Amino acid sequence: MTTRLEDNFRPSDRKNLATRGVHSVTDLFRFFPRRYLVPGERTELGALPLGETAIIQAEVITVSTRRMKQRRGTITEVVVHDGRQSMKIAFFNQPWLEKALSPGLTVVFGGKVESYRGQLTLASPVWLNRTEDDHDWTPDDLDSPFPIYPAVKKIAQSRLWSAIKTLLSVAGPEEFADPLPKGLRDKHDLPDLRTALEDMHKPRRIEDVERARLRWKWEEALALQTEFASRKASFAAVQATPLLTRGPKSRRFDESMPFTLTPSQVRVGEEIAEDMGRDQPMHRLLHGDVGSGKTLVALRAMLTAVDSGAQAAMLAPTEVLATQHFHSIQSLLGEQMALSPLLSEDDQVTVALMTGSMAARERRELALDLATGTIDIVVGTHALLSESTMFESLGLIVVDEQHRFGVEQREAMRAKGGVTTPHTLVMSATPIPRTVAMTVFADLDVSTLTEMPAGPKDIATHVVPIVDQPNWFARARALMRETIEAGRGVFVVFPRIEPTDIEDPETGAVIGQKQGIEDLSRKLEDTPELKGARFGLLHGRMSTGEKDRVLKDFRDGDIDILVSTTVIEVGVDVPRATMMVIAEAENFGVAQLHQLRGRVGRDGSAAMCFMLTELSETDESYARLQAVAETLDGFALAEYDLDSRGEGDVLSASQWGGSSLRHLSILRDSEIVAEAKTVAEQIVEVDPTLEAVPALKAFIRRVLPEDDAHFIEAG
Ligand code: ADP
Ligand code: MG
Repeated sequence: MTTRLEDNFRPSDRKNLATRGVHSVTDLFRFFPRRYLVPGERTELGALPLGETAIIQAEVITVSTRRMKQRRGTITEVVVHDGRQSMKIAFFNQPWLEKALSPGLTVVFGGKVESYRGQLTLASPVWLNRTEDDHDWTPDDLDSPFPIYPAVKKIAQSRLWSAIKTLLSVAGPEEFADPLPKGLRDKHDLPDLRTALEDMHKPRRIEDVERARLRWKWEEALALQTEFASRKASFAAVQATPLLTRGPKSRRFDESMPFTLTPSQVRVGEEIAEDMGRDQPMHRLLHGDVGSGKTLVALRAMLTAVDSGAQAAMLAPTEVLATQHFHSIQSLLGEQMALSPLLSEDDQVTVALMTGSMAARERRELALDLATGTIDIVVGTHALLSESTMFESLGLIVVDEQHRFGVEQREAMRAKGGVTTPHTLVMSATPIPRTVAMTVFADLDVSTLTEMPAGPKDIATHVVPIVDQPNWFARARALMRETIEAGRGVFVVFPRIEPTDIEDPETGAVIGQKQGIEDLSRKLEDTPELKGARFGLLHGRMSTGEKDRVLKDFRDGDIDILVSTTVIEVGVDVPRATMMVIAEAENFGVAQLHQLRGRVGRDGSAAMCFMLTELSETDESYARLQAVAETLDGFALAEYDLDSRGEGDVLSASQWGGSSLRHLSILRDSEIVAEAKTVAEQIVEVDPTLEAVPALKAFIRRVLPEDDAHFIEAG
């Protein structure tokens, strides 16, 4: 017996192990049981609880495999007997079980109790046979928990188990080099790596498993935070140009601004200014609820750059948004700053927009202006990232909507700073729960806007179950009429552009059609309440020019009802809009609904939002809509969302999508995450390249995706 996978498994088995991510002995050691069968939990065949999980121990009497008639595949039927009674158990598409479960063996089965043709049975149970091949089996084992591994094709559980146990006993110290520092283990009473692995694969008591599990969480939290801390350290090792705070343009802007900054805008502005004044690049995340005034904060930061003779770029995910930001920046700057012919060139702030749909000649001219420093602030889409875009001196990059930009794109922007690296401010359109900020965004410093400039918003939000409550729907239409008559704008939001087929989930046959956005628009136009209203249509398949025109008409009051897809989701600012109707609202997520709703009542007027759905109050997704209707607090909704959607979605929306963090829950383990952060910072401070902690370094490479490793080197 050696400690190579090759010497313990045949090539065909190794291939099957590889599909489970097991390529080495190290991987095999970390191939943990899915669950454990705990002795004493065993049930007699005569007393099986229908609908619940049960564990039985019984002898195999007969086993036979046949092809299924209706469906493709095989069925293996095993008849077992526990000394008093017998039971038939069926396994699908595992014909090899016929050999593994031979008559005469005593096997432990665990699974959900179901009734099949009047007989109780276990549905596709996990099973384990303790006698076969089990060299270091001792009578003691009978009382300790049985590990049940995730199924690996053609490898019986017992063989997997005995291979792991044997390898654990012969593996050398290099397999047990511990990524967790001893001090940390001692402090939290965590088992060392070897003990924890043994606790997982051959626990004496189920408590051993729990103790070990805590350790896996710590490992992952420390890996994540150490990675972030070393990124931060590598950012810090890079030169940035310190940008003056509050030069003449910033001062003039603050004086001419038509409103007073909220206390959070002041505080966050100071945090940013302090960062930008350093000779290390800022990496800061700015977040706050919809309407909390992030754009103004970003603009003040950009003016700081301009005051220091540098340029600023704002990167937006879509053309609509880029255009929108461009217009709001221009209007925030106003005549005193940007447009007045009375201003000398030195006093002016020049702002430009760059998008992919610009004419080639225009774009070349703009590129020249950027390269010569004629333009101070540029707002744009991905076009800003292209190689042909160069800056005379880029001092600050504002990235709107972090998650839609990949690491590489941020990297491309950063490279445009020339000799020094630009400062970066990342804006999130929606608030980010603290736990997420601490994990997914932990390489950034975080600034939070906690108040709304106009005070708390007033958007009366209602869920309208159109099937169950048709009269509510009629009331909503009447309110649309009233809103239009008051000279206000109404958004109607719809989840799709084209009609789509509805398929029968069983047969795949087309059984109907869901309407497209134009069908909906026509239907509304024919609604008696809405006769004579002026309709506009907006969706992502229109050209930028068309979209701009429609939005302008809506803003100017030449369109009453704008029927739109989610292109209006983020940032679109139409102050006269006071009502939103979201059709088929169940298609949208919580954050999205909240963001959409933020489009109305922008001028401080009381506003309304109706979320239409065919669902009934008893449907599960209805609760989500109800949650949005019940609060206007974006932070509360962000927490709710995280809680109900689960973190898989949160992580996959981030750059950690490819990570293999399996034990740490960013929701429930926030205390571990927070303490790991402190420990990681201490480690990185004295040992930035992690020379002294090779096991931790290796573990980080193991669990965090390659892409990000590349990022560290580039950073
Ligand atoms: P968001 O954080 O959603 O991006 P915006 O930056 O679009 O919010 O700001 C929402 C609205 O509030 C804008 O019309 C903006 O001009 C206005 N605003 C921002 N800051 C203030 C302030 N301190 N006082 C009054 N209005 C403000
Ligand atoms: Mg905004």
